[in-house]
Amino acid sequence: MDSASPADLLARAVVHFDRSETVAARDLALAVAGSGVPALRAQALTLAVKCHQVLDELVEALALAAEAFEVCWAIGDTASEAVVHATVARILLITSDPVSATAEIMTALEVAEASGDLTALTAATAIAGVVYYYLEQFDHCFEFCERAAEMARLLGDDNTNGAMIDTMACANMCLAENARKAGDEPAALALSAIAQSQSREALSVARRTGHRRHEVTAIGNLAESLAFCGRADEALEMLSEWRIEPARDTPSILTHYFATHGTICLAGGRDEEAIGHLRAALEVAESKASEMTAAMHLADAYERHGDLRGALDTYKIYHSLSKAVASEAAQRSGHIAVVRMDTTRAKAAAEEERARVTALQHANRELLRQSLEDPLTGLANRRHLDELMAEGLSGRGILLVDVDHFKRVNDDHSHMVGDQVLRLLAGLLRTACRSQDTVVRFGGEEFAVLLSNSDLPDATVTAQRLRAQVAAYDWDSVAPGITVTVSIGLAMGDESADPGVVLARADERLYAAKHAGRNRVHGPAPAVQPAI
Ligand code: GH3
Ligand code: MG
Ligand code: MG
Repeated sequence: MDSASPADLLARAVVHFDRSETVAARDLALAVAGSGVPALRAQALTLAVKCHQVLDELVEALALAAEAFEVCWAIGDTASEAVVHATVARILLITSDPVSATAEIMTALEVAEASGDLTALTAATAIAGVVYYYLEQFDHCFEFCERAAEMARLLGDDNTNGAMIDTMACANMCLAENARKAGDEPAALALSAIAQSQSREALSVARRTGHRRHEVTAIGNLAESLAFCGRADEALEMLSEWRIEPARDTPSILTHYFATHGTICLAGGRDEEAIGHLRAALEVAESKASEMTAAMHLADAYERHGDLRGALDTYKIYHSLSKAVASEAAQRSGHIAVVRMDTTRAKAAAEEERARVTALQHANRELLRQSLEDPLTGLANRRHLDELMAEGLSGRGILLVDVDHFKRVNDDHSHMVGDQVLRLLAGLLRTACRSQDTVVRFGGEEFAVLLSNSDLPDATVTAQRLRAQVAAYDWDSVAPGITVTVSIGLAMGDESADPGVVLARADERLYAAKHAGRNRVHGPAPAVQPAI
């Protein structure tokens, strides 16, 4: 890896992927997946899974998908998780497991919707369109493709928009073939005309974005639909636009090129040319499935050409390939089953871990809350007040509020009644203050009120109001015969730069208020006398 940061490398990998430079994208994504922080790893693994899928490296894709899920679950990256589910659905489709593919794409859509991430939802919706295309449920296919194309346009994602237009072209071609089989030739031609215009649109999008794989797919599809309606010459002309680029064209692109060329020649009666192209397809094909398709068409071409020896030999190749494909498919399903089981287990473990972390965080928050809160009254405690005062007292006032003769409440009634009085007082003080003021249980039967944005006249009025409301409260309803009053010492924040000094002044004035007869407020100005 060069000196670029993992985030830069991942961004580069995404650019490669969008340009259909899948091998380069895969290698960079894998490098980042091995080194990045979890958030980057989740995205890098997701991209690597997509690359493996495009490159037909399905076993690697599935193994990495399991790892991607683990990282996504651990950090709660549901957007990436949705994209991995969608890619796994795409793989299940290739491995001819449509039922699990449908289940997987549903999961992808649910997770994507819950994530609220439009890019993830677009990716899942796009693959849902492809899944339904393979399932030949074309109504659903069109619905998902159109929705995905619309979202892609919103996002400025030309590649997905183009891919969706192309998928709809393929669906229309399938419908055209069905119509022809049913003997409805006008419908067949009308549908293939729609397919052609869609393929042309997909082609121009792919050329604009420089996406090679989409470009050649669109050319192939367009040529096939032209050949379908008897325009074989135009189809071949179209294919001649498909100039092979050995540096960029993967074996699957080349196989597709030769096979399409071959089948179109075959349909147009050009058996010899067809044989040449199909033999080339058979040679370059890397996956057994595409070798098998090429062999099947090649055998047809030999037979049509009257070369029965060639036809028989090629059928034999076809037959042994089809057995190999079936056993590969079985092995893959086995592998998929293992990966899916593993991921189920891993998901359970990750969820347990997440629950543990959440419980810990909750316990921490609870501890923190308890450490700053008074359990009897639910008010903030002295520690909280100290924290607030440490921020500075400029523009603030502080009131120390002490219950008068509280010992008598306990002695004459009970400690429980005393507790109830303290709780009621806490509520009274809280409601009598503004929301930006903080009421604190300072200790025992003493409270402190920190007034924000307050000057002396303001603070004095507030202190008097508190005192008067306490005195006027119907304490008889708590226990007959109780009277509760408070004395208040008031100090302003600008009396000293040291909060400790300000607090000490408030305490001195509280002491003075007690001595002056209680149920009164003493502040920096001459003693403020009770209003009642
Ligand atoms: P003064 O007017 O001079 O403040 O008289 P006082 O009786 O209020 O003062 P003193 O400090 O002598 O007594 C305070 C009492 O408050 C003593 C203590 O038992 C009581 N007290 C402190 N905390 C609590 C509590 O949480 N619940 C109850 N019920 N009583 C408490
Ligand atoms: Mg007291
Ligand atoms: Mg006291």
